[in-house]
Amino acid sequence: MKKDKILLIGACGQIGVELTLALRKMYGDANVLASDLREEHDLLKGTGPYVSLDVMNKEMLHVLVIRHNITQIYLLAAILSATGEKNPLLAWHINMQSLLNVLDIAKEENLDKIYWPSSIAVFGPNSPAMDTPQHTIIEPTTIYGISKFAGERWCEYYNHRFGVDVRSLRYPGLISYKSAPGGGTTDYAIEIFHEAKEHKKYTSFLAENTYLPMMYMPDAIRATIELMESDASKISVRSAYNLSGMSFSPKEIAAEIKQHIPAFTIAYEPDYRQQIADGWPDSIDDSLARNDWGWKHEFDLSKMTADMLANI
Ligand code: NAD
Repeated sequence: MKKDKILLIGACGQIGVELTLALRKMYGDANVLASDLREEHDLLKGTGPYVSLDVMNKEMLHVLVIRHNITQIYLLAAILSATGEKNPLLAWHINMQSLLNVLDIAKEENLDKIYWPSSIAVFGPNSPAMDTPQHTIIEPTTIYGISKFAGERWCEYYNHRFGVDVRSLRYPGLISYKSAPGGGTTDYAIEIFHEAKEHKKYTSFLAENTYLPMMYMPDAIRATIELMESDASKISVRSAYNLSGMSFSPKEIAAEIKQHIPAFTIAYEPDYRQQIADGWPDSIDDSLARNDWGWKHEFDLSKMTADMLANI
């Protein structure tokens, strides 16, 4: 077992629950302190220490870090893309200030490592849509994407200027069944499985040929841990790495589900989220992650579909 002491912020969210459980397996239950604004998630109960925390309260966060001898922070608290569009100033405030609080405490307390996720939402309509490169035109049009891009710049700044070992991934849309999604534009690809199993039909809020980069949660958790476990000398990107798993449209995922549930039907009623999706890439070039620290995805559309339907 390693001696590190990890604090996860936003541990009750879609990623946080699974990442907490994975880190507890690696580092020992007592060495991974989970925290969130919300009540402890059922899947976390009895698996290790939990505290209620508002990451916006910098003093409380600072005291917690000192009191628990924290050496690493995983900051997962954020307002996601679709929710952010409903209250842009709140999304900006929470997404930026939470990161600044964590980066600044990391600097002051000389913490070992920080993880903070970015998103494919940093790209905008002027970025190349296919195989979007790591370094390209980045002009996000959602407040979520703007906050993620600014966050990436802050991460690189704290690394270059103050030596904070902060690492980040531009997650694609994440698909999982353990913990509910938090208001993203790719949430349709989770809802569709639940509706297919319960009602054999689904109405998609994205149009049939809207391709988006996606990833199955086990791949995302492994990518996060592999990045964080890599030797610092291998990390050439201190803003956030492009990361890729698969890319599909509502029509394609529906066809895949139909192979398991022949009676399944899909209808399309695009809403405000279509505009968000239209500004995002279809697929991502993640060759830097593959070359720098050996990233390799495991799940494609058919493997993920079979696993989702078997588990929900
Ligand atoms: P989520 O909304 O499911 O979870 C976020 C958690 O943060 C929630 O449990 C919420 O209660 C908590 N939180 C919110 N405000 C807080 C505060 N002030 N103090 C403490 N906790 C607070 O989000 P998620 O899907 O798990 O995403 C985690 C991170 O990954 C976010 O930064 C998100 O932008 C990023 N990301 C997610 C996806 C995806 O598809 N899920 C894709 C790209 C990037």
